[in-house]
Amino acid sequence: MAKSTAKPRKGEVEARLHQAVAVALARELRKEHPEGDWQDGLWYPSPEERRSCCEKLAPSPGNKQALESHCRSKAHIANLFDVPVPDLKRAVLSARRERALAPALVAGRPPQEVAAGIEALAASSQVALRNAKRELLREEANSRTKGEVVLSCNLKAIGVLP
Ligand SMILES: [Zn+2]
Repeated sequence: MAKSTAKPRKGEVEARLHQAVAVALARELRKEHPEGDWQDGLWYPSPEERRSCCEKLAPSPGNKQALESHCRSKAHIANLFDVPVPDLKRAVLSARRERALAPALVAGRPPQEVAAGIEALAASSQVALRNAKRELLREEANSRTKGEVVLSCNLKAIGVLP
């Protein structure tokens, strides 16, 4: 494939942002781990995982997992997916807020309130679904598989998919 110097299209940046959100949340919850290896009792990221932000850090006997923790940070994950750090932070916050909404709504609330909350949650899911569909249409030049990845990322981000 020929390398293009053209600016990435907005849809591509958004797709990377959705993937970055999914990875950031998974690494935060320790459902997913940065790629790397232990060498002499110290953790180092794999060449695929390593980015320029990692160069400032070196693990030491006092902090064996310095780089492992760093590779779970938003600064590193933003670098990994080539998205702006503030955008990733914002997107992670809103995904986390949407996830937290569901259980908080049910605990000790009157049924009407719970029903209203479920409707609000369903409405926000609809928005995400609509955005995902719009993204699919925008990405029609790209492969179908990529669109499906974007859709499932969106659904994961809002907690519809595990
Ligand atoms: Zn890094």
